[in-house]
Amino acid sequence: MQSDWIGAAAENFRKGRRGFEPKAIVIHIIVGSLESAGLTFRDPRSSVSAHYGVGKSGNVHRFVQETDTAFHAGIVVQPTWRLIDPKVNPNFYTIGIEHEGQPQDAWPDEQYRASAALVREIAGRWKIPLDRDHVIMHREIRASKTCPGSADIDRLIREATAVG
Ligand SMILES: [Zn+2]
Repeated sequence: MQSDWIGAAAENFRKGRRGFEPKAIVIHIIVGSLESAGLTFRDPRSSVSAHYGVGKSGNVHRFVQETDTAFHAGIVVQPTWRLIDPKVNPNFYTIGIEHEGQPQDAWPDEQYRASAALVREIAGRWKIPLDRDHVIMHREIRASKTCPGSADIDRLIREATAVG
């Protein structure tokens, strides 16, 4: 799929995955523009990053390689995710996708479409099943956050499964 490489500051991600492979995809909301996410991830003081960002118009930005560890879901608070490994930082075995917008926003069709295509691509590369155990919301790892807000994960999985 069409995407733009933006990158992230070396301080905001870790090379490699300590031997782990991605087994799930974590969905986030930026609470701002796609541009603002790129600026934050390139700021060496922010200590945060994600692998991808999807804009409201369906544009995709890449920040961190899938084989590297982005800092997007490393804080675990009362997790409800069934497959969480309590002994390992979730960043080592997940891929993070940010989405442009505010938590209460209804995602435009283009954003769902692009995110679904991206999810399908990632899932294919790493043999990740397209279901609710493997495509999850950030707040299922960190209950103290509302992230990703009102995003419809079932729709995302449905579209990812249907993408031809
Ligand atoms: Zn998040």
